[in-house]
Amino acid sequence: MTEVKDYIRTIPDFPHEGILFRDVTTLFASPRGFRMAIDQLLHPYSGMRFDKVVGLEARGFILGGAVAHQLSAGFVPIRKKGKLPAATIGQAYQLEYGEAEVEIHDDAIEPGEKILLVDDLLATGGTAEAGVKLIEKLGGEVIGCAFIVDLPDLGGRAKLESLDMDVHALCV
Ligand code: 5GP
Repeated sequence: MTEVKDYIRTIPDFPHEGILFRDVTTLFASPRGFRMAIDQLLHPYSGMRFDKVVGLEARGFILGGAVAHQLSAGFVPIRKKGKLPAATIGQAYQLEYGEAEVEIHDDAIEPGEKILLVDDLLATGGTAEAGVKLIEKLGGEVIGCAFIVDLPDLGGRAKLESLDMDVHALCV
């Protein structure tokens, strides 16, 4: 029986030599694979109410839109610095070499709203941690963080769990 991980292709040496890139476009392109991925992302949250799903640029938008629709929740994007048109707040985070910054519209979340954070892959957890901080700065409550792939050796799950986050991933 084909599982979600079977639809993900691995590309060696992308974007740099020595990196094994997990390419989820093949999962998204499969009608069965995409449905399975969305259903499984939602599975632990059955019967729970969320106000908004927050997706991390860019593959988190594709997953987050479908998940938000299923939860009858709103969708909010977190984007790389300089891409959102209205007033934003930002959060910097460490990359392997240097720093990056992500932003959210400052009126995208109301205090007390229940949030599900979604992205395709959890590696060091830097991006997701920045996302959690932005949501919390606006007063949102992150109920869960859901990913297709978790690379536990890179420490992302441990980082999020140290912030008391509930982490859900479909493949390790
Ligand atoms: P982190 O911040 O956890 O180190 O990296 C996770 C972010 O980088 C996610 O937004 C994810 O989309 C992207 N990313 C890093 N490595 C990969 C990979 O191998 N495959 C995919 N699809 N995304 C990756």
